[in-house]
Amino acid sequence: MIPAKFEYIKASSVSEALALLDKHGDDAQLIAGGHSLVPAMKLRLNQPGTVIDIGKIPGLNSIKEDGDDLVIGANCTHHQIATSPIVKQKLNVLAQTAKSIGDIQVRNKGTIGGSLAHADPAADYPAVILASDAKIEVEGINGKRSISGSDFFQGIYATALGSHEMIIAIRIPKASNGVYLKFSHPASRFAVVGCAAIKNGAGISIGLTGVADHAYRASAVERAYDGDAKAASEHAVDGVAVMSDNFASSEYRSHLAKVFTERALSALG
Ligand SMILES: Cc1cc2nc3c(=O)[nH]c(=O)nc-3n(C[C@H](O)[C@H](O)[C@H](O)COP(=O)(O)OP(=O)(O)OC[C@H]3O[C@@H](n4cnc5c(N)ncnc54)[C@H](O)[C@@H]3O)c2cc1C
Repeated sequence: MIPAKFEYIKASSVSEALALLDKHGDDAQLIAGGHSLVPAMKLRLNQPGTVIDIGKIPGLNSIKEDGDDLVIGANCTHHQIATSPIVKQKLNVLAQTAKSIGDIQVRNKGTIGGSLAHADPAADYPAVILASDAKIEVEGINGKRSISGSDFFQGIYATALGSHEMIIAIRIPKASNGVYLKFSHPASRFAVVGCAAIKNGAGISIGLTGVADHAYRASAVERAYDGDAKAASEHAVDGVAVMSDNFASSEYRSHLAKVFTERALSALG
């Protein structure tokens, strides 16, 4: 449980962090809250030669309103998001999701940027990112770009983020009517299955996490929904390669995906 040797560098600005990423190349890793990277380094599943600490870069931990969106800095902790008055008022589903993550220690240190970049298939935020049509704002030495959730999550621990890019913020449309429900792993609280449902005008949107190798938008449920939550939720895993592991077989996960989709839809106001 002791990591391999590495060099630690603390970045004081985004431009410094990006220059360091460029200099050290694929041998470098950013660290924010350290609650995914450090366990992986201790197990030697990840052995970066250089660790660039972005945790104290000014300006990356703000939560702001911008028209119809909330803009959440990459370094906002889960606790900060769960307890933010603006998030609770304008996008309560995100506050609920953050509150459901891990335990108080994890929520006090772990960040939304770190969680999205890590892309654990059982992470909670991706379901909300997808259901809310959020955009992930990233920056590299060659400039900035904005990536939709459906393009961002690509597989187990795999994202569209380039190795020389970092997440700066997450831009999420406000939504007053949303729900996140999950079947938690009893030890870690990770989502064995998690469902985010959002109602906007006449339409609904559904994001599912924990079910497949990456979170997905349950478009078949959205198309089928005509007010009958049970009938629509039968489509929760249509066309999806459902995971099977020592926590849950694919049959059980499929069942949970349908049950939690139905519950989330029924809980929408
Ligand atoms: C006991 C325990 C229980 C947990 N339970 C849950 C749970 O119930 N639900 C859940 O969703 N998660 C859970 N987690 C994971 C937790 O939410 C982590 O905090 C999160 O996955 C990573 O955030 P971090 O800031 O700690 O990232 P770090 O560990 O610092 O970094 C993780 C990865 O992201 C990269 N990274 C970090 N910040 C950025 C950035 N701004 N741009 C680009 N790359 C970046 C790093 O290079 C690294 O590869 C749990 C973790 C633990 C240890």
